[in-house]
Amino acid sequence: MPLLDDDWRLQGQERYLHGALLHRAQWTRPRPDWDHDHCEFCWAKFAEEDLPDVLHEGYTTPDRYRWICGTCFRDFADRFGWRVE
Ligand SMILES: [Zn+2]
Repeated sequence: MPLLDDDWRLQGQERYLHGALLHRAQWTRPRPDWDHDHCEFCWAKFAEEDLPDVLHEGYTTPDRYRWICGTCFRDFADRFGWRVE
C-alpha cells in the first residue's frame, strides 16, 4: 500500500531525519532519571521494563536522541533515505 503524505505519523520529521544515519540498538537509559523514549513517528514507547507494548530495541541516531520503531523504519526508510550501520 503506498504511503500518503497525510499519514498521521508524518509531522515534519524530514527537517531533522532526512538522510539520517541510523543504527539498530537496544534501548538503555541515557541517564538514571530518564526511563523511556518514544518513536519519532508513531509514539510507541521504548523502555527497559518488560511491559505490554513497550519496545526494547529500535533504530536510533548516533547521539541516541531520536528513536524509530521497526514498523515506522520499514514504512519510511525509502522516503527518508536513511542509511543504516
Ligand atoms: Zn513507530
